[in-house]
Amino acid sequence: MKEHMEDEVTPLFTFGVIADIQYADKDNGYNFHHTRMRYYRNSLQILGHACRCWDVEEDPRRRPAFILQLGDVIDGYNRELGASERALRTVLQEFGDCAVPVHHVWGNHEFYNFSREELFQSGLNSRDKGEGEREENVNVGEKVREKFSSMEEVYAYHFSPAPNFRFIVLDAYDMSIIGRNQRSEKYKQSMTIILEHNPNEELNMPPSNIDALEGRYVKFNGGFSQEQLDWLDRVLNSADENKEKVVIASHIPIHPFSADYVCLAWNYDKILPILYSHKCVVCFMAGHDHDGGYFKDESGIHHLTLKGAIETPPLGDAFGTVFVYEDKMVLRGRGRISDRVMMFQ
Ligand code: ZN
Repeated sequence: MKEHMEDEVTPLFTFGVIADIQYADKDNGYNFHHTRMRYYRNSLQILGHACRCWDVEEDPRRRPAFILQLGDVIDGYNRELGASERALRTVLQEFGDCAVPVHHVWGNHEFYNFSREELFQSGLNSRDKGEGEREENVNVGEKVREKFSSMEEVYAYHFSPAPNFRFIVLDAYDMSIIGRNQRSEKYKQSMTIILEHNPNEELNMPPSNIDALEGRYVKFNGGFSQEQLDWLDRVLNSADENKEKVVIASHIPIHPFSADYVCLAWNYDKILPILYSHKCVVCFMAGHDHDGGYFKDESGIHHLTLKGAIETPPLGDAFGTVFVYEDKMVLRGRGRISDRVMMFQ
């Protein structure tokens, strides 16, 4: 009965979510550790179904205002198939049928296919749908421009889809040994970090340390630079001042109870205290861990890791629609994604 009543109330706004589509025009196959089946073509069917479902809603407040694509939109296999561009065109065309803006998060598979420079030039760069400091920089003094210039090559931005709500897209591969030019300072620093924790020759294999949290120091993960964390802190400060509620999106999860340890951001322990130092954060959404996960932490932040489309067998589904209210977000999941009511604290 309660569930039914929630459906009767008009939400403030609505958005769609989908993670780890990892499309490739390729037969099904096992993952890196040969433990899980991946359905490379079927994931495109799931995306198509999701877009059709989002599109049919006529009530403007129940119709998604935007789609949040949580990363790994095409699979790394496309690179060896010489099909990166074609696969990307295929998925973007499918999204194009949705007729609402898509906010793209970048994952490891984006970097298997494209360089960071190529991604900025591609349809996966939705930063121009954001707002904030970058535009302000144009008209301000040299000093301020300098202050923010290091964020230019970090794929992070924020936008406000409705009054009192803000979404922040984070770059979880800012510090990583994938996607960074090997001559860059960040690559060198990232290599130092991973080698400090992972003694394996194959850095995609987690270190067999007794502390399982060390398992996150693998090549397919990454983390956030200090400049990105400082930027995030500033954005959250202004959200606090404006009494906004903030949802953060990142490809990599940051709470140990919301995902497998091997899928956590390298410096999850540096970003969490920043979120805790602000009142505004209500939810952290991620992909990357195809099994998904959920945890509400001690400060009331909902950590939602969405199950991946790629490991969803044919005829199954894996996407969600989130209805946002004054006091909560209600996730209506399809297929493998469960329904969830996330109350704001
Ligand atoms: Zn991933």
